[in-house]
Amino acid sequence: MSVSLIVADSCFDGERHRPEQTTIVIRDGRIGEVVAGDLAAQNGATPAELRQADVEVVRTPFAMPGLVEGHCHLFLDGDETDQALRSAHLKQPFEGLLETAWRSLELNVAAGITAIRDAGDVHGVNTRIKAELTAQPGRTPEMRSAGFAIRKAKRYGSFLAREVQGLDDLPQVIRDVAPTADYLKIMLSGIIDFESGTVKGAPQFDVEEAKLIQATAEELGLQTSSHISGLDGLTIAAEAGINSIEHGFFMNREILAVMRDKQIAWIPTFMPVDFQWRYPEYCGWNEATVGELRKILDNHDEHLVAAYEMGVPVICGSDAGSYGSPHGRALIEDLVLMRRAGAPMEAILRSATSLPRATWGLPRADLAVGCEANVLCLAGSPFDAVEHVRSPQAVYHHGWRQLGHGTPGAAVAESRAALLVRN
Ligand SMILES: [Zn+2]
Repeated sequence: MSVSLIVADSCFDGERHRPEQTTIVIRDGRIGEVVAGDLAAQNGATPAELRQADVEVVRTPFAMPGLVEGHCHLFLDGDETDQALRSAHLKQPFEGLLETAWRSLELNVAAGITAIRDAGDVHGVNTRIKAELTAQPGRTPEMRSAGFAIRKAKRYGSFLAREVQGLDDLPQVIRDVAPTADYLKIMLSGIIDFESGTVKGAPQFDVEEAKLIQATAEELGLQTSSHISGLDGLTIAAEAGINSIEHGFFMNREILAVMRDKQIAWIPTFMPVDFQWRYPEYCGWNEATVGELRKILDNHDEHLVAAYEMGVPVICGSDAGSYGSPHGRALIEDLVLMRRAGAPMEAILRSATSLPRATWGLPRADLAVGCEANVLCLAGSPFDAVEHVRSPQAVYHHGWRQLGHGTPGAAVAESRAALLVRN
């Protein structure tokens, strides 16, 4: 039997902050015990099996379950900020996109992410990746994927969605995309026009169509998810009971109340908008547009805090792959932005671990007896300073994996030396 002891100065167990020193015992890949104190130092109390030569003791300032990225686009390179190159990227043959997606996957893992939910693409890249991951049990990360999304004919979303005309063909198109979908992704609005601070165009689907989408998806056993910003579209998504609202810029309290009542999840994806506000020179934005961006973000901050207070299920997701949102790092920065907006740290970590797993049928991965071991070690506690989420040291998921903040190299070697101390 292989045994690892993770002795953490403090931890978050998936539900609660445990500010005291805690030992997590991993036996053959599962969590055997979670006890207060330093089990490795308590010689008298150490079980016989823990005195074996192959017991590994890992000391870390902070332990928590591996992160879940709730909204990303593996086939897009979020590090690429040149718009012409981003357009050219989409015209590549399948193999080129697939290569990008595998690289994106590695960046996610290097940030301490052990499960991802991809938002789909028209090329079938995410479907291929998911098939390969599923064929190799023990691969990290676990994956959920939309396969193909759906959009109204000629509207926004050509790179990830199949076209629908209206009520007549909706059920059939949904049945067509269902076999490769873990959930049904709907393009419900266009994108935001940051210069005017509004959403471009009317919602793609009306309430009647949205309700038919929801009913058809339910028949097929699929949850629904909407790409949506702007009050008109938010009202439609909430009324139709779409299972998750993603992005959701221009949110208000009335919509949040409906979301709480129907337990509609919100994935606020701060990063792509925050990037444009923080680095306006990349998009050529003038002062007026920067002001619009700030207004949009202030509204998002305010309603994020309100959502937590009201009991809306908030889930972390960064829209990684989008402009200004590099895979892995974007989720980490989204957590930082959510904390700076005023959301409670414990609630944010739940939104990035146990809640998405429970919502999307991923295996439970709490630091709790019986769960498969899925433990992320950080160089400091996010409860002391949220920025510690930027310093993943190592993750245990199907064995140890050393991390170095997304960039392999000296940092990884260093953290290995500091972290892995054999008994
Ligand atoms: Zn997206």
